[in-house]
Amino acid sequence: MYPNNAQFCLSLTFDIEMSYNFPYWTSDYDDYGAIDPHVKQYVHKLLDVAGKYGVKLQFFVVGSALEDPDVDYLKRLVAEGHALDNHTYRHINVKAERVEDLHSSYKRAPWRAGGLAPLDCLRHEIRQTSRALRERLSVETTGFRTPGAFPNGLEDIPEVQTLLQEEGFQFASAHYKCPTERTWHPPRAEMEAAVRQSLDSLQPYRYPNGLPEIPMMGLSDAIAFRSLDLDRWEYIHLTTVAVDHAHEHGQVLSLLAHPSYLAARDPHCDMLDTVLRHALDKPGGCWVATNRDINGALLAA
Ligand SMILES: [Zn+2]
Repeated sequence: MYPNNAQFCLSLTFDIEMSYNFPYWTSDYDDYGAIDPHVKQYVHKLLDVAGKYGVKLQFFVVGSALEDPDVDYLKRLVAEGHALDNHTYRHINVKAERVEDLHSSYKRAPWRAGGLAPLDCLRHEIRQTSRALRERLSVETTGFRTPGAFPNGLEDIPEVQTLLQEEGFQFASAHYKCPTERTWHPPRAEMEAAVRQSLDSLQPYRYPNGLPEIPMMGLSDAIAFRSLDLDRWEYIHLTTVAVDHAHEHGQVLSLLAHPSYLAARDPHCDMLDTVLRHALDKPGGCWVATNRDINGALLAA
């Protein structure tokens, strides 16, 4: 089923953006693309770890990050063969029904939409990002990740599925569900069960219009650190539980993380290092793939 007869598949995905509550609980950002130097440095560290294991990572970036005069960290990532795809220009809500619900900058200045409906703003944001990636990094985007993730993916919004196909995307990544109560410090057994259930319910699939969806599975760093207030090794333990489950059941495990959270909470890249070592040690072999690879090998028509 997987290339090289591997037993299971691991994709490690990182959304490059600033995130509220990190590094300080009071941190907030109007421009998620104003990537601070520490987060850029952290991307370099992630690339060092990936290089050590000889694997490729999947990144998504907000287009406004390409306005920064210094995008050397992105240039390195591309030069080393990692995948870089589209996360909208300003981290907007793809399900917004009103312009002011797209993002705080549209709420403050709705004229930014230029009279466009929310769906057309989304199209414009996606095109700006694809164009910025092409002009600054010579990258052609093939994948799209929604800002925020949805427990029903794009199921309730077929017009966005259609838009992504019209814009030439080969896959979307919008679906995430880890059914643990959003209270701080739930019992460990409950979190482990939630991680396994998330994997069982979120394997890659196609929307009715044919657009492939590669969900985010297990526990994201956002849920771990913001919603559940886990410590670093609790979070890392749960990612290894996800690896064990994927291996046992021959599943795809696609993990979602963010350099902006990890730079604050996992300064030595222990998550990436531990997950890769754990996965690559499994009997039968692990196919470590980008979402682009998964789409090409498992979903492409
Ligand atoms: Zn994001």
